[in-house]
Amino acid sequence: MTTTFHPALGEAARSFLSRQHHLLIDGRMVESDSGRRTDILDPATGELIATAAEASASDVDRAVDAARRAFTGPWSKTTPAERTRIMLRFASLIEANGDELAELECINSGKPLPFCRNGDVAGIAEMLRYMAGWTTKMGGETPNVSLPGEWHAYTLREPIGVVGQIIPWNFPLNMAMWKIAPALATGCTIVLKPSEQTPLTALRLGELALEAGVPAGVLNIVTGFGNPTGAAIAAHPGVDKVAFTGSGETGRRILLAAAGNLKRVSLELGGKSPVIVFPDANLEAAAAGVCSSIFFHAGQICAAGSRLYVHERAYDQVLEAVARRAKSIKLGHGMEVGTEMGPVISRRQLDRVTGYIHSGQEEGATLYAGGGTAGERGFFVQPTVLTGVKPGMAVHDEEIFGPVLCAMSFSDDADLERISATANTTTYGLAASIWTKDLGIAHKMARRLQAGIVNVNALSSPDAALPYGGYKQSGWGRERGFDAIKLYTEVKAVAINLNT
Ligand code: ADP
Repeated sequence: MTTTFHPALGEAARSFLSRQHHLLIDGRMVESDSGRRTDILDPATGELIATAAEASASDVDRAVDAARRAFTGPWSKTTPAERTRIMLRFASLIEANGDELAELECINSGKPLPFCRNGDVAGIAEMLRYMAGWTTKMGGETPNVSLPGEWHAYTLREPIGVVGQIIPWNFPLNMAMWKIAPALATGCTIVLKPSEQTPLTALRLGELALEAGVPAGVLNIVTGFGNPTGAAIAAHPGVDKVAFTGSGETGRRILLAAAGNLKRVSLELGGKSPVIVFPDANLEAAAAGVCSSIFFHAGQICAAGSRLYVHERAYDQVLEAVARRAKSIKLGHGMEVGTEMGPVISRRQLDRVTGYIHSGQEEGATLYAGGGTAGERGFFVQPTVLTGVKPGMAVHDEEIFGPVLCAMSFSDDADLERISATANTTTYGLAASIWTKDLGIAHKMARRLQAGIVNVNALSSPDAALPYGGYKQSGWGRERGFDAIKLYTEVKAVAINLNT
């Protein structure tokens, strides 16, 4: 098969794609031991755009060794200010190469180019700068102890060590940087595995990190499948922590694999986030927010507002606005001007999403908008709205990870306890969104919802300072904010007896 690129792709992205991609180990691009390669596709066309190396367990060994040497060698001993400077240079290089990175992200993940440029690329530079700030500010504490006599006690916050990071395909740049930035800030060293479907921008980031002065071995990138590459990282006795974003099923496998050396584990596992619209809300804004959350990036967002609960007095108005928007969204290749929604990532994902739509209808839900596939090539699913959905149906309880909104109503009979109990019915607890002008309702609902992120009169709050992660089966730990620094550090209590 030969590679085919979208004609609007710039020279820098073309030249990167045309290269033979390898693994980044110890500061050098090296061939995998097996020499095996995976096809990388443009999901908007289904065409081949590159191939990537498949790392085997022995390649993971090499990467972990390099990361260990870098950890015990220069990196964890770098001064905090020096790490900050390197990270800020890294951020500037990302911006300087922003057009290339955005195009690579667009062509491999399917997202519209303007978002890749203004959301993904800008967002990862921001994340690096935010975490670079913590490097010089994340010291320990001096607790007041009540031991007999006089003591001086303090805590140290130290890097965990070698961290394995395994990420999914929906936001390849963001997911990489949410993990790389706090690890660099804290002085950890990294073995990162991008998704086998979207490994390209991570490899480019690895090159830019080296150019910024991140020492060899600090950031190693091994491309390949969940098994053997990801599984080898999760089970590796030389890895001190594994950070994972992806499905619950894979998260459970990673937990089991990590048990061998009891490595630290953080998990970000998706959701089935409720959007609750009260009748006093700005209904136009609520409808627009719902659409951008569930249809943007074809619903492949773990915090997507996928369950809509609207008060019965506002239900028709909101649903009509949502359906109008769903029907007018321009589907297309992310590189094309005016495209509002791209494809899902693969044929498999397309089958999975359409399978859910059919199962919803079989279980009694009604198709209010969309429901089919679109386009003659690529993996496009129409923006879809299902009504008549009830708890217990697979479309209500399970994460679809596609552009499928389940709409339901509630009446005046339902008090806040009942509304929140319904919203809390799934096993997930990642995000929730409340729409009302009544501050009392907003705050009371925020307390009652079992979710790691609650947005009021908004569907998302993408800020590096805000912790991101879930209650219940949406995961363990919080990324972003100072909580991300905690994920990559151990706390040591030092107590000095001053009486002897
Ligand atoms: P999806 O199948 O929807 O891509 P996954 O949760 O399976 O979602 O994938 C997320 C990431 O986890 C990918 O990088 C994938 O390669 C990796 N992965 C899959 N299976 C395993 C596994 N058993 N151990 C470690 N990583 C895995």
